[in-house]
This record gives sequence, C-alpha cells and structure tokens, in this order.
Amino acid sequence: VLYNFKKITVVPTAKDFINIMLSKTQRKTPTVVHKHYKISRIRSFYTRKVRYTQQNFNERLSMIIQEFPKLDNIHPFYADLMNILYDKDHYKLALGQLNQARHLIDNVGKDYVRLMKFGDSLYRCKMLKKAALGRMATIMKRQAPNLVYLEQVRQHLSRLPSIDPYTRTLILCGFPNVGKSSFLNKITRADVEVHSYAFTTKSLYVGHTDYKYLRWQVVDTPGVLDHPLEERNVIEMQAVTALAHLRAAILYFIDVSEQCGHSIAEQVKLYESIKPLFTNKPLLVVCNKVDVTPMDQLSEANREALSIFEKNNVPLLSMSAVTDEGVMEVKQQACDTLLAYRIENKIQAKKVDSILNRLHVAL
Ligand code: GDP
Repeated sequence: VLYNFKKITVVPTAKDFINIMLSKTQRKTPTVVHKHYKISRIRSFYTRKVRYTQQNFNERLSMIIQEFPKLDNIHPFYADLMNILYDKDHYKLALGQLNQARHLIDNVGKDYVRLMKFGDSLYRCKMLKKAALGRMATIMKRQAPNLVYLEQVRQHLSRLPSIDPYTRTLILCGFPNVGKSSFLNKITRADVEVHSYAFTTKSLYVGHTDYKYLRWQVVDTPGVLDHPLEERNVIEMQAVTALAHLRAAILYFIDVSEQCGHSIAEQVKLYESIKPLFTNKPLLVVCNKVDVTPMDQLSEANREALSIFEKNNVPLLSMSAVTDEGVMEVKQQACDTLLAYRIENKIQAKKVDSILNRLHVAL
C-alpha cells in the first residue's frame, strides 16, 4: 500500500472538533418544533438531532483513523521511520483510543435514541437531546491529547523526505567533503530537496535522475553515514537501518586527494565500519578528485589500502566532479549494477529482515 503522507487532513483540536460537530447539527437540523405538536413528531425531531450528531462524530473520527497510515500495512522503510519518529506504541495507542471514542459516541447515540421513546414532553425530549450531545462532547474532550499528538504527527509526516521506497535509489556515503553533493548535483535535475530529520540535526538530500527510461532517486545523507557505526546513538542507528529497506545501490565516496582532511586509510576504515549495514545491497567505491590526484600517482601505501576492494570484488571507479571525468560512467555503472541485482535482491529480502532484527536487538 502506497500512502500519500502529504495528504492527511488537518486534525482539529478537541474544542474545534466539538464546535464543528455541534454547529453542523444546528445548521442542518434547524429547530422547527412547537410544544403543541404531537409528541411523536417532537420525539422524532430530537431523535434525528441525536442521530445526526452521532453520525457526524462517527464519520469524522473514521476519516482520521483511516487516513493515518497503519504501521503494519506500509513499506518497512516508512514503518521503521515512523517508529523512530513517533514511537510505534504511542502512535497505535492514540489511534486505538480514537477508535474507542467513536464506539462510545455510537453507544451514547443509541442509548439516547432509545430513551427518547419515553420523552413525554417537548421539554423532556429537549433535555435528553442536550444530555446526549453533552456526553458526546465529554468523550471527545478526553481525546484532546491524542488529537494534538496526531496533528503533530501529521504536520511532521508532510515534511518527511519524499523518498519513494518503490523507486530505485542510489545512496551516497563517505566522509564530509569528499564530493558527494557535487556528484548529486551533477547527475540530478535541479530539484534537490532538503529535508531535516526532526530527531537529529541531520538533513537528507534527495534528487532525481533518469536512466534507461526509469526514474531514479539519489539520496545524500550528510551526517548520517559519515562516521563509524560505533559512534552512533540509537536513533541515528535506526534512521540508518530504515535506509537499508530501500532498493538501492551504495556509492561509497573516497577523496583520493585527501583534501577532505581524512587519509585514504581512514576512509577505507570508515567504509569497513558501515559496510555491515548494506549486506544486501550492491556496493561501489568511487574515488573522487582524480583531477588533483590521478589514480596512477597514488602512493604505494594508498594503492595497497585501496587494493582490498578488488580483493573483495567491490568495483572501484574513479571520477572528478570538477572536470566531469568519469561522472556519467559512475552513474551508469551504479544503475546497471542495481538493475542486475534486482532478482538476487528479492531472494535476499528475508535475509535482510533477519540482519535488521539482529541489529535492533544489538541496540
Ligand atoms: P560532500 O560533503 O561529500 O558532499 O562534498 P562536496 O561535494 O560538498 O565537496 C567538498 C569540496 O570538494 C567542495 O569544495 C567541492 O568543490 C570539492 N570537490 C568536490 N569534488 C571535487 C573534485 O572532483 N575535484 C576537486 N578538486 N574538488 C572537488
């Protein structure tokens, strides 16, 4: 099920919710009774008011319950992300309690419709109606904190990165200043979106590109995948594991000029540290800034450090985001690798889950 997270209707406060319902009842069932009317006519008039109000409460509550994504139903990428951001238990409880309130209001409606049959005067019927609507309002008032919470979730969801878990993805990682965003800007259209993860100061950059008539998304994760796993807090860790659900190729950037402030050996070490997260994904290593340090001018030690990729059958590509040399080749090879990987990926889906489970347990 693909949810449109951007299109959930505003959740009113409890006060507004009640006002909307009561004024609707007033508007749509204007008072047109007189004490000299036959009692059956008076009863059915007030019964209609009670029923109408109950139905409106029911419809509006049902809409909220239905519009919010069900964590068991959505792509695991979003389920993970929502769990991190809003706490799964809190979220489920809020929706569960709204559902309960809906039932309670339905019952109040039924009870008072029944009582109305015993109303023997206009005054008595009117008081029964008043009591029914009052009880419905009281039930709603108790939902105030849940409504506030859900409105916060809604606002936040609408600002979540528009990562489509069903679109092929290239994930860029590596130390800061190695050239990830330069590459992203080179290969994507001018529509790079920046989103901040509310739970950290981290941002996420998402751009789009086409290859072989397919749409691809390119995700840069500054601050998320650029330091060793051991240094992460739980929340960051879970954000990373959410990324692991995407059908993605991982491009690990190495600045061979070492201008980024980290030696090649350090960059290889970081790669080793974050590699376990992507056991189910094709990995490519991109040596950037070859305009400064061409590959054939690397020191013996650095060549040795980079040789582990070949030994492990990890493709080693080179490019320069300044001269454009190799940029398109990197994009093409990354995309082709992911396309070729698809079938294998499906087989491995189960394996991923068990790896993620183990990671969560380890936390
Ligand atoms: P990020 O932090 O990994 O996204 O790195 P940036 O793309 O922001 O690049 C960091 C710095 O390196 C910027 O000043 C870029 O202009 C520079 N840079 C990026 N790619 C290259 C390259 O291929 N050659 C050279 N000489 N500089 C580059």
